[in-house]
Amino acid sequence: MKSRAAVLYGPTRSFSIEEIDVDEPKEGEVLVKLVATGLCHSDWHFATGAAPVRFPMVVGHEGAGIVEKVGPGVSEVQPGDHVVLCYIPACGKCRWCLSGLAALCDRGILLTQGAQLDGTFRFHKDGQDIAQFALVSAFSEYTVCPVDSVIKIDPDLPLDRACLVGCAVPTGWGAAVNRARVRPGETVAIFGTGGVGMNAVQGAALAGAEKVIAIDLVDWKLEKAKEFGATHTINPTREDPVQRVLDITHGVGADVVLLTVSLVTADIIGQGVRATRKAGRTVIVGASDRRMDRMNITPYDFMLLAKEIVGTIFGHNVPRVDIPRLLELYRDGKLKLDELVTKRYRLDEINQAFLDLEEGRLLRGVLVFD
Ligand SMILES: [Zn+2]
Ligand SMILES: [Zn+2]
Repeated sequence: MKSRAAVLYGPTRSFSIEEIDVDEPKEGEVLVKLVATGLCHSDWHFATGAAPVRFPMVVGHEGAGIVEKVGPGVSEVQPGDHVVLCYIPACGKCRWCLSGLAALCDRGILLTQGAQLDGTFRFHKDGQDIAQFALVSAFSEYTVCPVDSVIKIDPDLPLDRACLVGCAVPTGWGAAVNRARVRPGETVAIFGTGGVGMNAVQGAALAGAEKVIAIDLVDWKLEKAKEFGATHTINPTREDPVQRVLDITHGVGADVVLLTVSLVTADIIGQGVRATRKAGRTVIVGASDRRMDRMNITPYDFMLLAKEIVGTIFGHNVPRVDIPRLLELYRDGKLKLDELVTKRYRLDEINQAFLDLEEGRLLRGVLVFD
């Protein structure tokens, strides 16, 4: 079938809106008609070359839509079901899935290869294969993906907000709740309050943090962070964030520092570790540029001060367990999703949308399909 999609032909900082051919779903796969897709900074990293992928590729990995057709052997969903796409196609069988670490499923290695699980492609144009990012490719009106990449949700939930539980929400929320295991009364400092960081703010607040310190270069995002539960805000263009965190904590440092900026540099990691208290936790949440610098850290912090520095992908969530759980929190009014959507765009406005993202005008922009 034909589908309009935003195709990346290289790290050109520009998407091309084209009509592509989408194959029928094969065994264990589903065809999904997208309703909405959130714009994640990771997608932009492929467009800028910060993260290498196979081109041409259709990226987009924070989608929600309606199952149009299922392939042979699929019994978990049926046409008409509402689903959130998940960029971790957790197999449920590997060592990591079986030990509660489904975000680290061995299939993670397949995210940038572009083909489906059987090694063949579902997107084509003029006889050429087009790669799919994370097996889902949500910047397309229609997509084919493994049934393991879709999570069925209740049909009354608004899909233009539910899509956010495909990446931004679980990544930020889980970094605080699952990875850092924020406990009541703790102080949490969050570097970066974009789509992911804002969810780290609300995750930390919901977990009972006494102080939630939001750090960002953009003042309106800091104002917004207060609505999500931040008790203090710091703009590093005006003051040294490490010194301010130390001042707020009477020289002790934060129990937990979450680094959710869109590109985590060695410098940011250094700041994070210095802002962390003795035996505290610094968590790397945002992406990093493979071409960039290596960490320059002081072993002293880790031995004598017993600090921990850890990483997380997808907020250490188990998609099939935690995506429905997050949507229940939203339904109960405990998790903010509506407030995360700054602006909605049509597919052919995608280049403007990413410009807005890059220039700090969005928490989340959402593409809405007809
Ligand atoms: Zn993402
Ligand atoms: Zn697995």
